[in-house]
Amino acid sequence: MDSDGRKRAARDAELVTIGEFARLSRLSAKALRRYDELGLLRPALVDPVNGYRYYDRKQAGTARLVSWLRRIGMPLARIAEVTALDDAAAAAEIRAHWARVEAETAARRRLAAFLVDHLSAKENAVTTNDDGTGRGPATLGIRYAALAHPGSVRPVQQDTAYAGARLLAVADGFGAGGARASAAAVDALKPAARGAVDADDLLGVLQDAADDAAAAVCEAVAAGESPAESGTTLTALVWTGSRLGLVHIGDSRAYVLRGGELLRITHDDTLVRSMVDDGSLTEEEAASHPQRALLLKALAGDDGKPGSRPEVRLHDTLPGDRYLLCSDGLSAVVDEAALARAVVAADGPDTAVRDLVALAGDAGGPDNVSCVVADVVAL
Ligand code: MG
Repeated sequence: MDSDGRKRAARDAELVTIGEFARLSRLSAKALRRYDELGLLRPALVDPVNGYRYYDRKQAGTARLVSWLRRIGMPLARIAEVTALDDAAAAAEIRAHWARVEAETAARRRLAAFLVDHLSAKENAVTTNDDGTGRGPATLGIRYAALAHPGSVRPVQQDTAYAGARLLAVADGFGAGGARASAAAVDALKPAARGAVDADDLLGVLQDAADDAAAAVCEAVAAGESPAESGTTLTALVWTGSRLGLVHIGDSRAYVLRGGELLRITHDDTLVRSMVDDGSLTEEEAASHPQRALLLKALAGDDGKPGSRPEVRLHDTLPGDRYLLCSDGLSAVVDEAALARAVVAADGPDTAVRDLVALAGDAGGPDNVSCVVADVVAL
C-alpha cells in the first residue's frame, strides 16, 4: 500500500493524526510522543515510511488517564498496568497507590516529629532518669518471654519470635520463602543489640539495623521459589538500658501496658488501616474487609520497591511498663479489650505469652501466632 492508501485506511478505521488526537485528548503532541516512548500509550498505527503516528479516537480516554496518573506521581510501570484494567480494578489500584503514598508520608511525619523531640530534648538536657527516690538514676532492665505457635490450620510455621536481653522481635513471613524471610529479618537485628548502645547513637544504629534486615530478607528469599511474592513483616524493640528503639514494617504490632491501659505504639502498614485513617472504612468494616491482610509495606524479595524501609523510632520507657509484640495471628482474632485483659492479668512474661497464644487457639488458630512480652523493671 502506498502512503495515500495508508492515509485512507487510517481515516476509514477512525484513526486520526497526532495533531488531531492531541486536540481530542487535550494533551500536547510532545506529551503523546513521550507516552509512546515510555510505552504508556502506543499509537494505533505508525506509518512505516514516514513514521507518522495515528491514534484511534477511542484512545483519548486512556490518554487522559495516563496524564492524570502521572500527575498523582504513579510510577510508570504501574501506570501501564492500570490503564490495561477495567474501571473498577483501576479505581482499586489508584486507591492502593494513594494509600501507600500517605503511609510513607505518615512515616516521614513521625520520624520528623521524633527528630524534633530528640534534638529539643538534647537542647534542654536535664536528668530524666531519676527515679524520684533521691538515690540517683534508676537502673532498668527487662524480663522477657517469646512464644510462637503454628496455629491449627497452617501447615508450616512462618512466624519468628525472639526475646533476648537487648532485643525483642516478631516477624510474620509470607510466600514460599516466608519462614526464611522472617528468620533472616530477626537474625539481622541481633548484631545491633549485642552490646550497649549509646542512647544518642541509637537512631543511627536502628536505621543501619533496619537496612541490614531489608537486605538480609532480600538475600534469603532470592535463593528460593517465587522470591517476588515472599517476604516478612518485622516489629522489634532494641533495649539500650534506658530507652527502646522501635523498628517496624508491616502489620505485626507493638503495644505498651502503662497505667493499666494497653496502647498500640505501631501503625499497621495495611490498605484497610489507611482507609480507616482517611475515614472511608470503620474499624468494624476493616476487621471483616476481604483485603484486610493486604500489606502496603513489608520486607520483601522485590526490595527495589520504594517504601519498603522499616520505620525506626525511639520510645521512652518507665519502670513497670509491659511491652507486647505480636503477629496478626493474635491481633486479627483477639480484640484489643481481650488482649488487654490477658496482658494485665498475667503474673509475668512467661504466663502472658502462654495465655495469649491460648487465646488465639480458642479463636480457632487460623494463622501462625507469635508473641513476645517484656517487663521493664528497676534493678
Ligand atoms: Mg500472620
